[in-house]
Amino acid sequence: MTPACKTRRPADGNHPDGSLLDTALYLAAAGVPVLPLRAGKVPFGNCPACRGNACGGRPNMKSAGPCQCPAPCHAWAAATTNPHVLTSSVWAAVWREAVAVAYHPGGAGLTVVDLDNAAAVAWARATLPATRRVPTTRGEHWLYRGAMPSANAVRPGVDIKSLMQYARWLGPGTGSMAVLPSAVRALVVKEDTTPAPGEVASSVPARAPWSREVATGCRHTERYVRTGLERGLALVRARTESGAASQAFGVARFLAAQHTACPGPCGLAAIGEEIVTAAVSVGVPEAYARRAVDNGLQATGERAA
Ligand SMILES: [Zn+2]
Ligand SMILES: [Zn+2]
Ligand SMILES: [Zn+2]
Repeated sequence: MTPACKTRRPADGNHPDGSLLDTALYLAAAGVPVLPLRAGKVPFGNCPACRGNACGGRPNMKSAGPCQCPAPCHAWAAATTNPHVLTSSVWAAVWREAVAVAYHPGGAGLTVVDLDNAAAVAWARATLPATRRVPTTRGEHWLYRGAMPSANAVRPGVDIKSLMQYARWLGPGTGSMAVLPSAVRALVVKEDTTPAPGEVASSVPARAPWSREVATGCRHTERYVRTGLERGLALVRARTESGAASQAFGVARFLAAQHTACPGPCGLAAIGEEIVTAAVSVGVPEAYARRAVDNGLQATGERAA
């Protein structure tokens, strides 16, 4: 989202040798729609003509309205890449009172996973693919390439900011931006949501997979175990809408039951990790997935670890 221009690259929201407007123009030139924020880091209120959405709202809002208001009205919907709008006299007055620059991630084809605190960041590190990270006051913004519906509090301390939302610009961050994974899309589950065609599947950080080396006491062939495991993982991954955790429980119980007659060990812990990873990839919180899988593995009574 940042162009190859090095000389004007702002290190943070406050351009070192210029104003918030300079930062805004820099971002707009890179195709990122921007808007000013007032004290409290929130958008400026609507102008009198637009108060209470009396104007009907802007054309790009959820219900397309006729508003062509020259002022930065309607929060995220005012975000623009048009330098003539950004430098207009109406906006100039607003920039003088602005305290920060925000951008519309969805309008730039991006999704921001807003991690509000250290616990949320730790969850992301354990669960989501690495991507570009921007430090915030108490947490981090993780930026992914691809837009999706926004939602607040999808997990404790985690907001999704993309379509119809704004995010504060806190600098370009570090790391290369990854494609929006299904693990993030699955955090915002709506009944009318269908995955976009050609959506790139997520890859949660891979843990040690099951292998013959950890199953020295298993009476089954490697192929038998692997085939059964892959079938089970596919069942879990297919639960993109709901029921992935209970499916993970069922798969864990079914697979563990195959080994009750084995002297063991059969590598059930590694099998369990693969089921957890599959559940997490379709949006099940990791701790919840782990509990479901552990319960499933132990449900047979005789556990050949
Ligand atoms: Zn309006
Ligand atoms: Zn207005
Ligand atoms: Zn076995």
